[in-house]
Parts: sequence; C-alpha cells; structure tokens
Amino acid sequence: MKHESADIVTLGGGMASLSLIVALLLRGYRGRIIILEQLVTPNADKTWCFWGKGSVPRYLQPLIRQQWPQWSASHNGHEVSQSSRNGKNDYCCILAEDFYHFAFTLVEQNDNVSFFAGQSVIDAQEQAGEVRVRSRDYDIVAQHCLDTRYQPDSSEQGFYQCFAGLWLEADQALFDPSKVELMHNLECHGGTLQFDYVLPLSSHQALFERTFFSPQPLLVEDLTRETEQAIISRYGNIDINVQRREQGILPMIVTAPPVDTGCWHYAGTAGGHMRSATGYAFVSVQRWAQVVAVNLIDHQVWPDYQPIKNRYRWMDKIFLRVLAKKMDIAPALFMRLLEQTESDQFARFMTERASYRDLFAIIKAMPKRPFLNALY
Ligand SMILES: Cc1cc2nc3c(=O)[nH]c(=O)nc-3n(C[C@H](O)[C@H](O)[C@H](O)COP(=O)(O)OP(=O)(O)OC[C@H]3O[C@@H](n4cnc5c(N)ncnc54)[C@H](O)[C@@H]3O)c2cc1C
Repeated sequence: MKHESADIVTLGGGMASLSLIVALLLRGYRGRIIILEQLVTPNADKTWCFWGKGSVPRYLQPLIRQQWPQWSASHNGHEVSQSSRNGKNDYCCILAEDFYHFAFTLVEQNDNVSFFAGQSVIDAQEQAGEVRVRSRDYDIVAQHCLDTRYQPDSSEQGFYQCFAGLWLEADQALFDPSKVELMHNLECHGGTLQFDYVLPLSSHQALFERTFFSPQPLLVEDLTRETEQAIISRYGNIDINVQRREQGILPMIVTAPPVDTGCWHYAGTAGGHMRSATGYAFVSVQRWAQVVAVNLIDHQVWPDYQPIKNRYRWMDKIFLRVLAKKMDIAPALFMRLLEQTESDQFARFMTERASYRDLFAIIKAMPKRPFLNALY
C-alpha cells in the first residue's frame, strides 16, 4: 500500500473529473491532483453533443468533430425541423476519444497530476476537515475529494433513457450529413417512448441509436437488437459495417443534488449535472468546471454551485410528471416543441442559457391541460 497526499483526489476519471482537471491545469493550477479510476483503460465509447460551439470553453472548441445547422423530429411520417440561425446554435459533437486524448496529454505534461488506473475506490471518508481514500494500492489523504461515482437509487420514481448506438459505415450514401435526426419515428408502446437518434458524420457514416424512455432500465442485449432491427427497417438488409458501439442507461429522475461539504464535492451524473428530462450533461459540467477552477485558483475556495438552476429542474420535473401520467402524448409534445419554438430558443433551453422569454415560449408551446394536471 502506497501512502500519498494531495490537494484534490478525484473518485473516477471520467468526463466530469477530467473537465475540472483540464480547466484547472489550463489556468496554471500547481496543486497536487490524484485521479483514481476503476477502469484500466478509459471508456471512450461516448459521443457528447450539445447546442452552440460557444456553450463550451474555447479550448474544447477545436475538438468539435462536426456541427449541424439543422435538427429534426418525426412522428407518423410527419417531420418537423429547426435550423440554427447564423450558426451560433448549431448542434455540435465531441467524441470521447478526442476529449480523453486532449485531457490525458495535458495530464502527462503536468507533473502535479497522477492518474492511477485500475484503482477502484474501496473506502472514502471525511475525517477532521480532510478526506481519506483507499483503493487496492493506495491510501490517500487530501484536502478535497471530487466524487463522480454514480449510484442509481432504485427507490426513485422516474424514467431511464436507454439506448444502444452503432457507428455505421455504409458503402453507399445513406445519411443526410446536413441534419441530425434527434427523434425520428417517435412512437409510444406500453408506457415507453421510442425513437431513433441519427448523428451523421458524412453521407456514409453515422451513429444510429434506437432510444427508449422506459420506466425500468432495459437490457443492453435487447437494446442492441432493437437498434439492429430499426436499422434494417429503415435502410433495408444492405451491407453496413459496424465500426464502434456505445450504450447508455441514463436516469431521468429529478432528485435533489447531493450536498457538498467543505471538502467533499460531487460532479457529473453523481453531482446532479445531468438534465433529467434530456440526459445532457456535457455543457453544465464545463460551466461548473470553469467556476470551480476560477475560484480555487483566484480565491483558494471551492465554491458552492448549483449544477442545474431551479427553473430548469422545475420544468423538467413537470414534464416528466406529464410523461408518467400520459406517455401516449409524448410524441405530440416533442413535435410541438420543435414546431412552436424558434430554433435558438430551443437550443438555449437545452443548454440552460434560456432567457425568461425563451422559457415562456417553451411553456406556451405545451398543451395546457396535461401540464396543469401535473402540477398537483
Ligand atoms: C453513451 C452516452 C452518450 C452520452 N451522450 C451525451 C451527449 O450527447 N451530450 C451530453 O451532454 N451528455 C451525454 N451523455 C451523458 C453524460 O454527459 C455522460 O454520461 C458523462 O460521461 C457523465 O460524466 P461523469 O463524469 O459523471 O461520468 P463518467 O464519464 O462515466 O465518469 C465516471 C468515472 O468514474 C469511474 N468510477 C465509478 N465508480 C468508481 C469507483 N468506485 N472507483 C473508481 N472509479 C470509479 C467510472 O469508471 C468512470 O470512468 C451521454 C452518456 C452516455 C453513457
């Protein structure tokens, strides 16, 4: 067992931890950081999307692989689409492999950061204003602990956003690279909403995900089969190469975010950074990372931070209540949302940059009765 001391120890070395470490290092942080990660090699099978290049810090913008000026949803053969005005709110994607490469290159260049892979946290406790963390090979004492271990709470009521995605490469032009299909072929069966999410990198290459909003987590094997069937029913039984896979079972549950103490802090999915009605977390994590980095470096304090503002939490909660009561109207709700809001309003709402006017437009787009019923 090796004994170590640090200013910050992170429990988990995924998107949230690395986002903070990158933000700190790029502002010149020289404190000692230790990352404890249970996996031996990071899970890079993720694609992080968001609206608006300017929603993420400048240093991440070169990592954007692709941006799309248009996004759409469809239901019963009817399609509705939105186009970003003057490119400011294009839909953008960063591949996890590019993000990890960027973050780990920075970590290697800074001798104040150590990444300990294959080290599952066995015990972590706060003791007299410090934290003590143990893994198989390390016993670490630190001033601050950043906890990103997510533990689903099965007693909470809500939905799970479940999907298995396949990165497809076809030898013929199958996809329209100018447009992301956010929710194609929306349909509702037995209290579960289903749709296809298609992210085309070119006319020959796309990420295809059959996605479910389900009251229970679904099995990955079933999700993969559903995605394969959706691909066949959409494109026929043609020759398509599967390059990579990614999958997710994201909680769509509104819970109060865990409370930080002076030295114990939470982030990422574990810290309530994920929007419960959408599953998006990348932008809110980057925003938080900036605030923490500035405060730690300039003022030597870890700031109190509310990951998702109350107004979004409240709106997501009401929306999820409507889905719980009347899932069959969900396709119509999503179609109305795109039909009756302006693209920039929708993009700002999805990335927590909405003005009150934007929020009013979102509320106005929704049918009144089911939302009023969901209030009580
Ligand atoms: C496939 C997929 C696609 C997504 N797409 C988007 C998207 O397009 N846009 C968006 O905004 N959000 C998206 N999300 C949601 C969210 O941004 C991601 O889940 C994001 O990775 C969350 O960051 P995190 O740091 O909380 O978790 P992770 O990135 O999963 O990091 C947590 C780390 O902690 C480690 N860990 C856990 N327990 C322990 C332990 N006991 N000891 C040591 N290490 C431990 C894990 O191995 C992991 O590496 C997506 C999620 C998934 C799964």
